Amino acid sequence: MSDIQIAQENEAKEMQPITAIAEQAGLTAADLEQYGPYKAKVNFAAINRLKEKEDGKLILVTSINPTPAGEGKSTVTVGLGDALRQLDQSAVIALREPSLGPVMGMKGGATGGGYAQVVPMADINLHFTGDMHALTAAVNTLAALIDNHLQQGNALNIDPRRIIWKRALDINDRALRQVVIGLGGPVQGMPRQDGFDITVASELMAILCLATDITDLKRRISQIVIGYTYDRQPVTVGELEITGAIAMLLKDALKPNLVQTLEHTPALIHGGPFANIAHGCNSILATQTALKMGDIAITEAGFGADLGAEKFLDIKVPQLGKTPDTIVIVATVRALKYNGGVALADLTTENLGALDKGFSNLAKHIANMQRYGIPVVVAINEFTSDTEAEVTMLQEKCAKLGVKAVLASVWAHGGKGGLDLAQAVLEALDQPKNFQPLYDSNADIQSKLTTIVTDIYGGKEVVFEGKAINQLKEIEKNGWDHLPVCIAKTQYSLSDDPKALGAPTDFTVHVRELIPKLGAGFIVAMTGTVLTMPGLPKKPAALNMDVTEDGLISGLF
Ligand code: ADP
Repeated sequence: MSDIQIAQENEAKEMQPITAIAEQAGLTAADLEQYGPYKAKVNFAAINRLKEKEDGKLILVTSINPTPAGEGKSTVTVGLGDALRQLDQSAVIALREPSLGPVMGMKGGATGGGYAQVVPMADINLHFTGDMHALTAAVNTLAALIDNHLQQGNALNIDPRRIIWKRALDINDRALRQVVIGLGGPVQGMPRQDGFDITVASELMAILCLATDITDLKRRISQIVIGYTYDRQPVTVGELEITGAIAMLLKDALKPNLVQTLEHTPALIHGGPFANIAHGCNSILATQTALKMGDIAITEAGFGADLGAEKFLDIKVPQLGKTPDTIVIVATVRALKYNGGVALADLTTENLGALDKGFSNLAKHIANMQRYGIPVVVAINEFTSDTEAEVTMLQEKCAKLGVKAVLASVWAHGGKGGLDLAQAVLEALDQPKNFQPLYDSNADIQSKLTTIVTDIYGGKEVVFEGKAINQLKEIEKNGWDHLPVCIAKTQYSLSDDPKALGAPTDFTVHVRELIPKLGAGFIVAMTGTVLTMPGLPKKPAALNMDVTEDGLISGLF
C-alpha cells in the first residue's frame, strides 16, 4: 500500500480531535487556534506560559548522504516518537512542513511513511495551515515594494543591478530562475534582471524558523539586506520602512502547527527550509514548544548530517539555547550501497562488497557527530529488500566504532517496530555529553568555511571563484564576518560534486557566490552547481496524482 492509502485508511477510523492530542501535552482548547478538527496552531499565550516549564531532553535525527528518494529520516523520527510513547515516555515530535516542490517533483512529501506518519497526510503535504503561502506572499510583497521604490523616484539610491532580494514560488520552476521584469516602457516599471527562489530557500523562511516572537521577527525582517546603492552601501528592509507590513503577513505563520501521528503522538510541524539550499531545520518556536510540551522532544534536520545536522548544531543551537542530548543517524542498507557505487535501479540486490565500501559514508557521519561531543545511535531503517547478511555486517561495523546500530521497522509496523531503537535512545540520553561547537563565531567567513569543509566534509580546501572573491571583501568591509555560514551544497555527496560518493578526501569545495542573509543571521555560500530554484524531473510525481468528485486524493506517493 502507498503512504497515502495507509494514511487515508487510518485517518478515517482513528484520528483523534486535535484538542485531545493537545490535552495529552498539557494544553487546552483555549491554547489552540483550530483549523478544522485535526489541525491547530498553538497560540502565543500558551507558548509564553510554557516558557516557565523546564526543558525536556532533545533528540536530533539526521542521516547519511541519501539516495534521490530520501532515506526515511522523517519516517524514523515519527516511528521513534511513537515507540517512546509505547514505552510510557511523554514524547513530542517537531518536524518541518512539506514544500510543494518535492511533492510535485520526485521525493514526495515530508510526513513520514508507511505506518510511521503524521496526519492528516494530504492536508499537511498540500496547503496545511497556509504558512507556505503566507511566506510566498510576504517574499513577493517585499519584492513588489522594492520595485515600486525604484519606480517612485528611488529615494534610497538603490542600484537596480545590485538588488539581491528575489521573488519566490513554492514550486520547482526552472523557467523562473532568471527573468527580466519591468519591460514595456516607463509606466511598467524599471526594467531589471531578477529571479525566483523556491519559497523554502528564501530568507523569510529562515527568519520564520529562527524568530522567537513577533518582536524578534520584526527585528530580523528590518535587518534583511535587499541590495546595494550605487555607491555600494547595503540597503535594508528597515530603510524601506516596510518591516511592519511584512511582519504582519507572517503573524499567524509564526505560530507552530499541532497535528498527530497515526498513533496519536503530538507532532509540531512548522517551517520548512531545505537543508541543501537553506538551513534545513524546523522552527525554533516549534522545537522550544516541543521541549516544554513533553519530557522528550524529537526533531529532524534535513538531508545528511553534513548539511542538516551541521546547520542544526552551528546555526540553530546558538539561537535555541539547547543542544541535543542524543543524535540518531538514520542509515539504510540501500543508501550505503548507493554510496558504494551501486546504481539506483540495482539497490534491491544483496551486495556486501558495495555495502562495505559505502559504509565509509556512515563512518564519516558518525565521527562528525561524535566530534560535537553528543552520544550517537545509528538507526537502520529496514527495507524489505535488506538481507540478514547485510544488516549483520552493518551492525558489526558500527559496533567496531563503538556505536550501537539498531534495526527499526517503523515503516512496516509503526511504533512497535521502533521499540529497540527507543530503548537504545533512552540509554544514550543518560550518557554524559560535552557539546563542542565546530568553530569560533569570531573567526572570519573564510576560516569558518574551511573548518566545515575540512573537518565535516573531509575535503582539503575551499576555493572562492567569480563573484565570491569580491563578496568576501564586501563581507569583511561591512563587518559581517562574525556570522555563521550556511553552505548550499548537493545532498548526495560529502563534497560539492554529487557523483563523489562514499567518503571522498582531498577534494576542493568551490564557492561561487556568498549571499548575506542578515535577517536570518548567516552568510549563504553557494557551492558546486546547486541552485536555489530546483527543476522538475523527467517524470514528475505530479503525473500520478488525481482527485475524485468527493475530494479523495490518489497518487500523492
Ligand atoms: P527523508 O526524511 O529521509 O527524506 P522520508 O521519511 O520522507 O525520508 O521517506 C521517504 C520515502 O521513503 C517515503 O515515501 C517513505 O514512505 C519511504 N520509506 C521510508 N522508509 C521506508 C522503508 N523502510 N521501506 C519502504 N519505504 C520507506
